[in-house]
Amino acid sequence: MADFDYDLFVIGGGSGGVRAARTAAATGAKVGLAEESRMGGTCVIRGCVPKKLMVFASTYRDTFADARSYGWDFPDGTFRWAPFRDKLHAELDRLEEVYRSLLDKSGVDIHDARASLADPHTVRLDGGRTVTAKHILIAVGGHPVRPEIANAHLGLVSDDIFQLDALPKSVLIVGGGYIACEFACILSGLGVEVTQHYRGAQILRGFDDEARGLISEMMQARGIDLHLGTNIVDLRPASEAPEGPVGTGSDAAMGAPVGVGDATATVVEPARPSATARPGGPVWVKATNGSARSFDHVIFATGRAPNTSGLGLEEAGVTTGRRGEILVDDYSQTSVPSIYAIGDVTDRIQLTPVAIREGMAFTETVFKGNPTKPDHALVPSAVFTQPELGTVGLTEEEARDQEPVDIYCTSFRPMQQAFAGRQDRVLFKLVVSKDSRRVLGCHIVADHAGEMIQLAGIAVKAGLTKEQFDATCAVHPTVAEELVTMAVPIRSA
Ligand code: NDP
Repeated sequence: MADFDYDLFVIGGGSGGVRAARTAAATGAKVGLAEESRMGGTCVIRGCVPKKLMVFASTYRDTFADARSYGWDFPDGTFRWAPFRDKLHAELDRLEEVYRSLLDKSGVDIHDARASLADPHTVRLDGGRTVTAKHILIAVGGHPVRPEIANAHLGLVSDDIFQLDALPKSVLIVGGGYIACEFACILSGLGVEVTQHYRGAQILRGFDDEARGLISEMMQARGIDLHLGTNIVDLRPASEAPEGPVGTGSDAAMGAPVGVGDATATVVEPARPSATARPGGPVWVKATNGSARSFDHVIFATGRAPNTSGLGLEEAGVTTGRRGEILVDDYSQTSVPSIYAIGDVTDRIQLTPVAIREGMAFTETVFKGNPTKPDHALVPSAVFTQPELGTVGLTEEEARDQEPVDIYCTSFRPMQQAFAGRQDRVLFKLVVSKDSRRVLGCHIVADHAGEMIQLAGIAVKAGLTKEQFDATCAVHPTVAEELVTMAVPIRSA
């Protein structure tokens, strides 16, 4: 058998790659790992962790407002971005070091270099050095993509938000998925004037319709100027905004429809790519709803793509799919037997805990002789909007296509916010099989729904029935007690 430098070489130091490297090294395997950027990957450096800290920062506005209703008296405060951002970055530095030291203590060789495949057992590192490995694991993640429109390079993406020099006064967020909705709520909470354009009929496509509807309503009630069925038709540096009524008048500045069916409006030439303008400056945007105005920034939250370009996949014979994702079997093995892939680069479920579990299943399969498929069924998740959306299992729409279901649902103003005079409502919904009585899906819209769905997810994953939920005594007074007190279905579907 050929001698290799490593038993395992991992490309990518994000959550999935690091966990796979550590667990493989713990079996006595000789492991190397290459990371071209910062250890910790998307989740730690430019995703879940800094996002969640920003969520915390942004919720204090409501907390302070509510506190007055609860008898507290204090002067008005203001949010200061720079000290928060600096503290945020110090925390990310600390976490990066934790990741490094975990790898170090596990005996993993760290290569701070970009790596690509040279052949099924050889990895090329920056500077031309090569290493060989019996197994190679690709865990390089993904990156945000901008839409294919002229001047899209002027817009920011989620990675850029954590680096802002100053908090903008106004932003346009394009997209209706996790990232768009989370940042709309965060920035609005921090005092930024937020406009959001989503091309579809309702935000958060793929989630339960009723839950989406309530989140959308709540976001608008918080002052987010959400426009559904809307997309950009023209994007330019604000300094190149067209002259005349379009985009210069106060109506336009307020986002009122202009230029559509308006004989006096200036005809706007299609935008030419602006070669000089740099990303991040003020931009002028004309949208399909007829609005035309300038924003301090436009932020594209229009999806993510796998980081497969320039990875040497073709040279090594690794097959990719239509979106560039690495195709793998149930054990995360690619078309090349010595090469495996996990995490966002495989575009299965783009969630950190899923990537981590894929990494652990890889180690079980390859280094512990215990073939293990990562379990992608009934994965709970949360969208950290305000209020949050926690979800596990089937939506009502998915479930009713599968079998007859009973829907248990309640929506009400929770005590804490109602006392403070807020109109916020929460929603608890269980989708129950008529036949087996199993809870097929659970959807919660409420503050801390992310925490709640982690717990409810255990019951749903365990296949419990509605009657078993109801056999659990309520915890009173809580909002979550509704999960065990909804006696009668509101409808059957
Ligand atoms: P999503 O796929 O969730 O959303 C992308 C959004 O952009 C959709 O609303 C999509 O519209 C819209 N869009 C796509 N292309 C265009 C275009 N050309 N013009 C206008 N709109 C467009 O991606 P995200 O980037 O928000 O998130 C990526 C993944 O990261 C998520 O799927 C999730 O798995 C993960 N994530 C998880 C989080 C969490 O767990 N809390 C937080 C953040 C990310 P349409 O619906 O019509 O396709």
